[in-house]
Amino acid sequence: MTFEEKYAARVAGKVEFYRDPSLYACEPFRIFGPLYYVGDKKVCVHLIDTGEGLVLIDSGYTHTIHMLVDSIWRLGFDPKQIRYIVHTHGHHDHFGASNEFRRLYGCDLVMSETDAEYLKVNPDFSFLQFCSYTPLAYIPPEFQKTLKDGEDFICGNLKMHCVSIPGHTPGAMAFFFDVTEDGRTFRAGLFGGAGLFSASKEALEHYGEPMSLQQDMLASIEKVRGERVEIHLGNHPSHNATFAKRTRMLQGEKDAFIDPPSWNRFLDETRDKFLRMFAKEAAEGKETP
Ligand SMILES: [Zn+2]
Repeated sequence: MTFEEKYAARVAGKVEFYRDPSLYACEPFRIFGPLYYVGDKKVCVHLIDTGEGLVLIDSGYTHTIHMLVDSIWRLGFDPKQIRYIVHTHGHHDHFGASNEFRRLYGCDLVMSETDAEYLKVNPDFSFLQFCSYTPLAYIPPEFQKTLKDGEDFICGNLKMHCVSIPGHTPGAMAFFFDVTEDGRTFRAGLFGGAGLFSASKEALEHYGEPMSLQQDMLASIEKVRGERVEIHLGNHPSHNATFAKRTRMLQGEKDAFIDPPSWNRFLDETRDKFLRMFAKEAAEGKETP
């Protein structure tokens, strides 16, 4: 079985699910202060009201753009107020709706310099070709602005510190920024790329990416472990238990998202998952003569 056939088989069982967005649509909501959730139950999208326009972090899948636009309206904003979509990394589930969003509403698209470049050189590594569940074409976006490690992205009163965390993709980024509500300020943090598959031996070999990305992943986790993060945001909802926290919020716990231990706990779990995968790959490697 070729790599493509194997991956197509993995996706096959999910086609019906992804073609029915009612299965993963959700209500948008305010997390804290100017920070809102406008994603779905599979992929996180966050909206920040900077006081001088809106910023989105990621845009979700191409075929769920209608849910994103609807979520923005439902929060009382106008999609035309979006000035930037800042992306966590160059995989299709995070930039899928960006091209169309820009065409309709005119915002600028922002990506790390590294992933913007690799999308040009190796677009297949964004898994574009496996989106058999959508009839829409995924085309890697052109980016109007790129980010470097350690740079602060500034828009209105948002000052977002951007840190390179290579591993999941070569140019994945973590973002850190303050949010204030009623005189209380907390620091939000997002680790923008934690899935195992794209850093697996078979994926790296197939796409011609360096095996060193595996060690980069461990170094990236170490690099941002210990950052002060009081509001841990997910790249996917499972990362920070988005919907368990949302349920607690609806039950009256206003500060459910203020959860300082969540950041390091998530990074430790992620590191352990990667170490288990590397150990398994090493054991399999020894068995093959
Ligand atoms: Zn990804």
